Amino acid sequence: AFHDMKGNIVFDQVQFSYDEDRVALHEISLNMKQGQTVALVGHTGSGKSTIANLISRFYDPTKGTVKIDGHDLRDMRLDSLRTNISVVLQDTFIFSGTIMENIRFGRPEATDEEVKEAAKVVGADDFIKRLANGYQMEVEERGNILSAGERQLLSFARALLADPKILILDEATASIDTETEVKIQKALKRLLEGRTAIMIAHRLSTIREADNIIVLEHGRLLEQGNHDEL
Ligand code: ATP
Ligand code: MG
Repeated sequence: AFHDMKGNIVFDQVQFSYDEDRVALHEISLNMKQGQTVALVGHTGSGKSTIANLISRFYDPTKGTVKIDGHDLRDMRLDSLRTNISVVLQDTFIFSGTIMENIRFGRPEATDEEVKEAAKVVGADDFIKRLANGYQMEVEERGNILSAGERQLLSFARALLADPKILILDEATASIDTETEVKIQKALKRLLEGRTAIMIAHRLSTIREADNIIVLEHGRLLEQGNHDEL
Protein backbone atom coordinates (compact mmCIF):
# COMPACT_ATOMS: atom_id res chain seq x y z
CA ALA A 1 0.00 0.00 0.00
CA PHE A 2 3.02 2.30 0.29
CA HIS A 3 4.61 1.69 -3.09
CA ASP A 4 3.93 5.31 -3.73
CA MET A 5 5.81 6.53 -0.68
CA LYS A 6 6.78 10.17 -1.07
CA GLY A 7 9.17 10.47 1.81
CA ASN A 8 7.69 13.23 3.96
CA ILE A 9 8.89 12.64 7.51
CA VAL A 10 7.39 14.29 10.57
CA PHE A 11 8.49 14.01 14.19
CA ASP A 12 5.67 15.10 16.45
CA GLN A 13 6.79 15.70 20.04
CA VAL A 14 9.01 12.66 19.97
CA GLN A 15 10.67 11.60 23.16
CA PHE A 16 12.94 8.59 23.35
CA SER A 17 14.95 6.76 26.01
CA TYR A 18 17.12 3.70 25.47
CA ASP A 19 17.02 3.04 29.21
CA GLU A 20 15.23 4.29 32.28
CA ASP A 21 17.77 6.74 33.65
CA ARG A 22 18.49 8.84 30.56
CA VAL A 23 16.48 10.59 27.89
CA ALA A 24 18.15 10.46 24.45
CA LEU A 25 15.61 12.72 22.69
CA HIS A 26 13.43 15.33 24.41
CA GLU A 27 10.11 16.11 22.70
CA ILE A 28 11.49 16.80 19.28
CA SER A 29 9.26 18.11 16.50
CA LEU A 30 10.70 18.10 13.00
CA ASN A 31 9.64 18.23 9.42
CA MET A 32 11.67 16.65 6.63
CA LYS A 33 10.06 17.23 3.27
CA GLN A 34 10.15 14.87 0.32
CA GLY A 35 13.23 15.26 -1.84
CA GLN A 36 15.06 17.40 0.69
CA THR A 37 18.58 16.85 1.90
CA VAL A 38 18.56 17.22 5.65
CA ALA A 39 21.81 17.53 7.58
CA LEU A 40 21.81 16.35 11.19
CA VAL A 41 24.57 17.99 13.15
CA GLY A 42 25.57 18.03 16.79
CA HIS A 43 28.23 16.81 19.17
CA THR A 44 28.76 13.19 20.00
CA GLY A 45 25.82 11.86 22.01
CA SER A 46 23.47 14.65 20.87
CA GLY A 47 20.96 12.22 19.33
CA LYS A 48 21.76 12.10 15.59
CA SER A 49 21.90 8.32 15.29
CA THR A 50 18.85 8.05 17.54
CA ILE A 51 16.82 10.10 15.05
CA ALA A 52 18.06 7.81 12.27
CA ASN A 53 17.16 4.75 14.35
CA LEU A 54 13.61 5.99 14.89
CA ILE A 55 13.05 6.71 11.19
CA SER A 56 14.27 3.19 10.33
CA ARG A 57 12.01 1.94 13.10
CA PHE A 58 14.75 0.09 14.91
CA TYR A 59 12.99 1.56 17.95
CA ASP A 60 9.61 3.15 18.64
CA PRO A 61 9.33 6.51 20.40
CA THR A 62 8.72 6.49 24.15
CA LYS A 63 6.28 9.38 23.59
CA GLY A 64 4.96 11.15 20.50
CA THR A 65 4.86 9.88 16.92
CA VAL A 66 7.06 9.54 13.88
CA LYS A 67 5.08 9.76 10.66
CA ILE A 68 5.88 9.14 7.02
CA ASP A 69 3.47 10.72 4.53
CA GLY A 70 1.06 11.23 7.41
CA HIS A 71 1.09 7.61 8.59
CA ASP A 72 2.30 6.64 12.04
CA LEU A 73 5.31 4.37 11.52
CA ARG A 74 3.78 1.89 13.96
CA ASP A 75 0.92 1.35 11.50
CA MET A 76 3.17 0.74 8.52
CA ARG A 77 4.36 -2.63 7.36
CA LEU A 78 7.98 -3.30 8.18
CA ASP A 79 8.67 -4.74 4.74
CA SER A 80 7.39 -1.58 3.11
CA LEU A 81 9.70 0.45 5.33
CA ARG A 82 12.61 -1.81 4.55
CA THR A 83 12.14 -1.45 0.79
CA ASN A 84 11.64 2.31 0.92
CA ILE A 85 14.39 3.23 3.37
CA SER A 86 18.10 2.55 2.88
CA VAL A 87 20.77 3.18 5.42
CA VAL A 88 24.39 3.79 4.46
CA LEU A 89 26.65 3.54 7.49
CA GLN A 90 30.13 4.95 8.05
CA ASP A 91 31.59 1.54 8.21
CA THR A 92 30.20 0.03 5.06
CA PHE A 93 28.99 -3.49 5.44
CA ILE A 94 30.99 -5.66 3.06
CA PHE A 95 30.49 -9.38 3.04
CA SER A 96 32.60 -12.17 1.59
CA GLY A 97 31.67 -12.47 -2.05
CA THR A 98 32.24 -10.69 -5.31
CA ILE A 99 32.01 -6.95 -5.85
CA MET A 100 28.98 -7.69 -8.04
CA GLU A 101 27.22 -9.52 -5.21
CA ASN A 102 28.08 -6.79 -2.74
CA ILE A 103 26.45 -4.10 -4.86
CA ARG A 104 23.50 -6.30 -5.75
CA PHE A 105 22.71 -6.62 -2.06
CA GLY A 106 20.75 -3.38 -2.57
CA ARG A 107 18.34 -5.14 -4.94
CA PRO A 108 18.75 -8.92 -5.24
CA GLU A 109 16.86 -9.20 -8.52
CA ALA A 110 19.03 -6.65 -10.36
CA THR A 111 20.76 -7.81 -13.53
CA ASP A 112 24.54 -7.57 -14.03
CA GLU A 113 23.92 -4.64 -16.35
CA GLU A 114 21.89 -2.79 -13.73
CA VAL A 115 24.63 -3.35 -11.14
CA LYS A 116 27.25 -1.98 -13.51
CA GLU A 117 25.06 0.98 -14.42
CA ALA A 118 24.64 1.92 -10.75
CA ALA A 119 28.40 1.64 -10.23
CA LYS A 120 28.99 3.88 -13.24
CA VAL A 121 26.58 6.57 -12.09
CA VAL A 122 28.35 6.95 -8.75
CA GLY A 123 31.81 6.65 -10.32
CA ALA A 124 32.72 3.36 -8.66
CA ASP A 125 33.21 1.61 -11.95
CA ASP A 126 36.72 3.08 -12.51
CA PHE A 127 38.26 1.41 -9.52
CA ILE A 128 36.28 -1.80 -9.98
CA LYS A 129 37.52 -2.21 -13.53
CA ARG A 130 41.08 -1.80 -12.27
CA LEU A 131 40.71 -4.77 -9.90
CA ALA A 132 42.25 -8.05 -11.09
CA ASN A 133 38.86 -9.68 -11.74
CA GLY A 134 36.78 -6.55 -12.02
CA TYR A 135 33.21 -7.09 -10.86
CA GLN A 136 34.01 -10.75 -10.18
CA MET A 137 36.76 -9.87 -7.72
CA GLU A 138 36.27 -11.66 -4.41
CA VAL A 139 36.38 -9.45 -1.35
CA GLU A 140 36.53 -10.57 2.24
CA GLU A 141 34.47 -9.23 5.07
CA ARG A 142 37.56 -7.99 6.90
CA GLY A 143 40.29 -8.24 4.31
CA ASN A 144 40.65 -4.64 3.31
CA ILE A 145 41.62 -4.78 -0.32
CA LEU A 146 39.41 -1.71 -0.76
CA SER A 147 40.30 1.72 0.55
CA ALA A 148 37.87 3.68 2.72
CA GLY A 149 36.93 5.85 -0.26
CA GLU A 150 36.35 2.82 -2.48
CA ARG A 151 34.18 1.16 0.12
CA GLN A 152 32.16 4.34 0.34
CA LEU A 153 31.63 4.46 -3.42
CA LEU A 154 30.63 0.80 -3.36
CA SER A 155 28.04 1.53 -0.69
CA PHE A 156 26.69 4.40 -2.79
CA ALA A 157 26.30 2.07 -5.79
CA ARG A 158 24.45 -0.38 -3.56
CA ALA A 159 22.12 2.34 -2.26
CA LEU A 160 21.49 3.77 -5.72
CA LEU A 161 20.52 0.32 -6.98
CA ALA A 162 18.13 -0.10 -4.06
CA ASP A 163 16.52 3.20 -5.11
CA PRO A 164 14.85 4.04 -1.78
CA LYS A 165 12.54 7.00 -1.20
CA ILE A 166 14.35 7.76 2.03
CA LEU A 167 18.08 7.52 2.39
CA ILE A 168 19.85 7.75 5.71
CA LEU A 169 23.52 8.34 5.41
CA ASP A 170 26.07 8.46 8.18
CA GLU A 171 28.95 10.25 6.53
CA ALA A 172 32.34 8.66 6.95
CA THR A 173 34.88 10.59 8.95
CA ALA A 174 37.86 8.64 7.65
CA SER A 175 40.34 10.82 5.88
CA ILE A 176 40.36 10.24 2.16
CA ASP A 177 42.50 11.81 -0.51
CA THR A 178 41.29 14.90 -2.37
CA GLU A 179 40.71 13.05 -5.63
CA THR A 180 38.43 10.49 -3.97
CA GLU A 181 36.76 13.27 -2.01
CA VAL A 182 35.81 14.95 -5.28
CA LYS A 183 34.44 11.63 -6.58
CA ILE A 184 32.41 11.17 -3.44
CA GLN A 185 30.93 14.66 -3.70
CA LYS A 186 29.86 13.97 -7.27
CA ALA A 187 28.50 10.56 -6.36
CA LEU A 188 26.51 12.04 -3.50
CA LYS A 189 24.81 14.53 -5.82
CA ARG A 190 23.53 11.67 -7.96
CA LEU A 191 22.63 9.51 -5.02
CA LEU A 192 20.56 12.19 -3.29
CA GLU A 193 18.52 13.18 -6.33
CA GLY A 194 14.80 12.60 -5.98
CA ARG A 195 14.78 11.25 -2.44
CA THR A 196 14.57 12.49 1.10
CA ALA A 197 18.09 12.21 2.45
CA ILE A 198 18.98 12.40 6.10
CA MET A 199 22.67 12.95 6.39
CA ILE A 200 24.52 12.61 9.65
CA ALA A 201 26.85 15.24 8.39
CA HIS A 202 30.53 15.64 9.12
CA ARG A 203 31.63 17.45 5.99
CA LEU A 204 31.19 21.19 5.82
CA SER A 205 30.28 20.92 2.13
CA THR A 206 27.34 18.64 2.96
CA ILE A 207 26.09 21.03 5.61
CA ARG A 208 26.45 24.01 3.32
CA GLU A 209 24.41 22.39 0.56
CA ALA A 210 21.66 20.88 2.70
CA ASP A 211 18.11 22.21 2.30
CA ASN A 212 17.57 21.88 6.00
CA ILE A 213 20.13 21.75 8.79
CA ILE A 214 19.00 20.35 12.10
CA VAL A 215 21.26 21.15 15.02
CA LEU A 216 20.95 18.90 18.07
CA GLU A 217 22.33 19.39 21.54
CA HIS A 218 21.92 16.88 24.35
CA GLY A 219 18.85 15.37 22.68
CA ARG A 220 17.16 18.70 22.05
CA LEU A 221 16.58 20.64 18.87
CA LEU A 222 18.84 23.68 19.10
CA GLU A 223 18.09 25.26 15.74
CA GLN A 224 16.84 24.43 12.29
CA GLY A 225 17.14 26.12 8.89
CA ASN A 226 19.39 26.32 5.85
CA HIS A 227 22.97 27.54 5.81
CA ASP A 228 22.01 31.15 5.06
CA GLU A 229 19.45 31.25 7.83
CA LEU A 230 21.62 29.83 10.58
P1 ATP B 1 27.81 10.30 17.68
O1 ATP B 1 28.17 11.57 16.97
O2 ATP B 1 28.84 9.94 18.70
O3 ATP B 1 27.47 9.17 16.77
P2 ATP B 1 24.97 10.72 18.19
O4 ATP B 1 24.58 12.15 18.06
O5 ATP B 1 24.69 9.82 17.08
O6 ATP B 1 26.52 10.65 18.60
P3 ATP B 1 23.28 8.96 19.74
O7 ATP B 1 23.93 7.68 19.37
O8 ATP B 1 21.98 9.28 19.10
O9 ATP B 1 24.28 10.20 19.54
O10 ATP B 1 23.12 8.95 21.32
C1 ATP B 1 22.24 9.79 22.02
C2 ATP B 1 22.26 9.37 23.50
O11 ATP B 1 21.72 8.06 23.63
C3 ATP B 1 23.66 9.31 24.11
O12 ATP B 1 23.55 9.78 25.42
C4 ATP B 1 24.00 7.83 24.09
O13 ATP B 1 24.84 7.51 25.16
C5 ATP B 1 22.66 7.18 24.22
N1 ATP B 1 22.61 5.88 23.50
C6 ATP B 1 22.83 5.69 22.19
N2 ATP B 1 22.66 4.40 21.84
C7 ATP B 1 22.32 3.76 22.98
C8 ATP B 1 22.01 2.40 23.29
N3 ATP B 1 22.00 1.46 22.34
N4 ATP B 1 21.72 2.10 24.57
C9 ATP B 1 21.72 3.05 25.54
N5 ATP B 1 22.00 4.34 25.31
C10 ATP B 1 22.29 4.70 24.04
MG1 MG C 1 25.88 8.51 15.90
